[in-house]
Amino acid sequence: MRSDDTIFAIASGQGRAAVSVIRISGDQTRFVLETIAGKIPAPRRLTLRTLKDPAGEPLDQALVAWMPGPGSFTGEDQAELQIHGGAATRNAVIGVLARIEGCRAAEAGEFTRRAFLNGRMDLTQVEGLADLIDAETEAQRRQAMRQMEGELGHAAEEWREEGLQILALLEASLDFADEGDVPDGLEHQAMTRMQALADRIAKVLSSRSGERLREGLTVVIAGSPNAGKSTLLNRLAGRDVAIVSPFAGTTRDALEVRCDLGGLPVTFVDTAGLRETADPVEQEGVTRARQLAEQADLVLHLVAPDEDVPRLSSERQVLRVATKGDLNRIRHDCDLSISALSGEGLPELLERVEHLAQDMVNPAHASISRERHRALFMESHQMLQRAHSMLETNQAIELATEDVRLAVRALARVTGRLDVEDVLDRLFSGFCIGK
Ligand code: GDP
Repeated sequence: MRSDDTIFAIASGQGRAAVSVIRISGDQTRFVLETIAGKIPAPRRLTLRTLKDPAGEPLDQALVAWMPGPGSFTGEDQAELQIHGGAATRNAVIGVLARIEGCRAAEAGEFTRRAFLNGRMDLTQVEGLADLIDAETEAQRRQAMRQMEGELGHAAEEWREEGLQILALLEASLDFADEGDVPDGLEHQAMTRMQALADRIAKVLSSRSGERLREGLTVVIAGSPNAGKSTLLNRLAGRDVAIVSPFAGTTRDALEVRCDLGGLPVTFVDTAGLRETADPVEQEGVTRARQLAEQADLVLHLVAPDEDVPRLSSERQVLRVATKGDLNRIRHDCDLSISALSGEGLPELLERVEHLAQDMVNPAHASISRERHRALFMESHQMLQRAHSMLETNQAIELATEDVRLAVRALARVTGRLDVEDVLDRLFSGFCIGK
C-alpha cells in the first residue's frame, strides 16, 4: 500500500440506487479524468460527461467534478463521478479505474487519513467526522458537527499556544536569570497564567456532557423485588423484554431498552431486585445491579405501594417513582407516581428523565467526547498543577519547566500534532531580550 497511489472508492452506499458516487484522490486524478472523461472540466463545477473506457467504449453518462488540491477535502487532486447506480455500471467504471497505472481501491478511512496527513483536519475533527457518520440522534449529530468543525480542536490548540507562551516565560527566566537583563516577575507571570490555564482545562474536564452524549446516558431502574421494574421496562420497550412474574426474584439479569428522548440517546437498564439473597446466581445479579446503579447517570428508584421508601445510597441523581398507581394508594414521599399497567404517569416520567438528561448534556463550552481527550486533558492539567506547586515551593525551575513541556505535549496530542520544538522559535522571536 503506497501513500502516493491514487485511490478510488464508491462513496455512496452499496446496492441498487439512482446514483452512485465514486471518489478519486491523488496525483493521477487529472490523468484518470482525461482518460475516462476527456477534457478536464472547470474546477468545482458539476459537468456532464460521457465516461469511456481506454478503448473508447462508452461506460455511462455521469456528472463529473474536478477538485484540484490543495483546497480539496484530502488536500490532493480529487474528482467525483456521479454515475448511474446499477451494479453493472459501478463495476464497469471501477474496473476501468483499477486498470489505470498507479490507481487502486482505497482502504477504509483512507481519504480522511490523507486529509489528516495533509493538515486539512486535526485529529479531533477526524473523530468528529467518525461520530457524525455514527450519529443516531439529533443531539449526537449536533455535537459531532461541532467537533468536526473544530470546536474541541481549537480549544486544545489555544491552550497549547498558551502553554507554549508559559514555557517561553520559564525558559527566559531560566536562560537569562544570571545575567540580570530579564525583567523581574517572569516566573510570577508564568505561575499566574499556569493557574488560569489549569482552571480552564478543569472546567471542561468537570463536565461529562460530551461523552454522555456520544455514548448515551444510562438510567438504571432500581427497587426491591416486585416493585414493578420489569413491567416498566417492558412498557418502555413496547414489547416483552424482561420476564414479568408475580414472584420475587425472577429478574436475574440486567436488561436494557435504548430510547431516543428528545434527541438524546438514553438506555434504561432493569436490575435484578436489590435484596439480600442466598442464591449465588441471584446474588451475582444483585451485585451487578448495584455496580450499574453506581455508574448510571440517573437512578429511577421504584417504590411499590406497600413499601416504605428505603434509603438507596447512590452518588447519582435519584428519582423516586411510586409504582402501581392504579392500586389507588396516593403517596407523597415520591417524586412522581406511575402505573406501568395502565400507562398512567409514563409521559410525565419520560419528560422528567428527558429534562434531567438535557441538563446533564447541555454543553456551555467545547466538550470532551472521548476517553482519549479526557486522558490527555487530565494529564496536561496535572502537569500544570504540579509545575505550579513546584514553583510555589521554590523548587528547581527546570523541573517545573519540564512539567509544563509535558502538559503542552499532551495538548498537542489532542489534535494530533506534536511540534513542541516551535517553543524555541517563540522564545527568541517573542522576547526582545536585546541579544
Ligand atoms: P420487578 O421484580 O421489580 O421487576 O417487578 P415486576 O415488574 O416483575 O412486577 C411484579 C408484579 O407487579 C407483577 O405481577 C406485575 O404484574 C405487577 N405490576 C407491575 N406494575 C404494575 C402496575 O402498574 N399496576 C399493577 N396493578 N401491578 C403491577
